[in-house]
Amino acid sequence: MKGIIIGGGIIGLSLARELNKNGYDVTVIELLRVGRGASWTAGGMLAPQAEGLEPGTFLDFCIESREMYETFVKTLERETDIDVGYWKCGILCPAFSEEEEKELKKRIQVYSELGLTGKWIDREALEGRYRSLGEEIRGGALFPDDAQVDNRLLMTALEKYARSRGIQLLEFTEASEIIEENGKFEAVRTSKGIVEGDFCVIAAGAWSEHFIKCHVFPIKGEMAAIDISPQDIDRVIFGSKAYLIPRKDYKRLVIGATEEMVGFKDGNTVKGILQLFNGLKDTLPNLINNTIQETWFGYRPATPDLLPVLGKTEIENLYIATGHYRNGILLAPITARVMFDLIDKGIENHYIKEFSLNRFKANKNE
Ligand SMILES: Cc1cc2nc3c(=O)[nH]c(=O)nc-3n(C[C@H](O)[C@H](O)[C@H](O)COP(=O)(O)OP(=O)(O)OC[C@H]3O[C@@H](n4cnc5c(N)ncnc54)[C@H](O)[C@@H]3O)c2cc1C
Repeated sequence: MKGIIIGGGIIGLSLARELNKNGYDVTVIELLRVGRGASWTAGGMLAPQAEGLEPGTFLDFCIESREMYETFVKTLERETDIDVGYWKCGILCPAFSEEEEKELKKRIQVYSELGLTGKWIDREALEGRYRSLGEEIRGGALFPDDAQVDNRLLMTALEKYARSRGIQLLEFTEASEIIEENGKFEAVRTSKGIVEGDFCVIAAGAWSEHFIKCHVFPIKGEMAAIDISPQDIDRVIFGSKAYLIPRKDYKRLVIGATEEMVGFKDGNTVKGILQLFNGLKDTLPNLINNTIQETWFGYRPATPDLLPVLGKTEIENLYIATGHYRNGILLAPITARVMFDLIDKGIENHYIKEFSLNRFKANKNE
């Protein structure tokens, strides 16, 4: 069976790997280099609790994927010999106001009723831990099971897996049109000719709307990175002003992220970078003396209800897996698994049903 995947981001490459492991012949069509879309620009947090997700199916989906992560990365590391910087460092969410403190304490309680761990750490204890602490910080909620991965290393490893295991990567190739006959998928028209296959998965991130009406649009995020040393920060700090992600080797602190609905408007802005560095100053003030390494931006694939779109489309053998918005790195292992089960065994589990394209039709009476 030959499968075609449009888009070589974390979603496309993770699914390509799953299919390849199970004997499928897979071709990935990628407009640029694989792994250089949103998946390259992300922070790499595996943070359902720090994100403050409400109890429900989406939180369950995220927690299940977080639980799959260690095995996902360890297997990939064995297959590729690349350490992808997975670190179960826990995430601290500082409170900058009385209201945020109340909200975070409530979140700890709600999560504990679901069996998810979290605890409050007061300001005094934080002062003992960090060389400088923003004046407004009143304490913070620590979610020890949230984690991080170095998403650029992860994309490098997924690319290496693909190249070494015979997944065909058609890079610098634009997929332009889905060709169907009698409602059944036939092929993809590309800038380099027609690619035929038995099935196709649209995994083109924020650009997926080009192929099919799937209600996906970009939410831009700006990011920056600075030098750090191990004394500066011990784990991810995720506040309302900015999040700070020290990489496991302490060679880089990633600072994120802005959120703007400006379409595909490339470039960093003064406003965006100011927001990030002001957030850094308000959290760990002494770090503003550190050297800037890089600034960049990316496009989160979002949907109107900010949930993914997964599963079948109206065209037989044409599937979709996108709309992962702020959590696509976190959700790669579970997305690959549920999409594989759907394609290979026809299993439409409750996640596929919940995140199906049909929900937009029902809402819009189309
Ligand atoms: C600033 C920022 C911070 C983030 N932080 C986190 C985080 O900490 N944790 C987390 O879990 N998630 C995070 N995310 C979200 C995460 O990055 C995304 O949800 C995820 O990367 C989406 O993966 P994808 O494979 O769907 O899309 P992408 O990685 O964007 O891949 C889609 C690919 O499709 C290709 N493509 C597009 N059009 C075509 C075409 N016509 N033909 C062929 N190929 C095409 C693109 O070139 C691209 O390579 C962040 C995102 C951003 C922008």
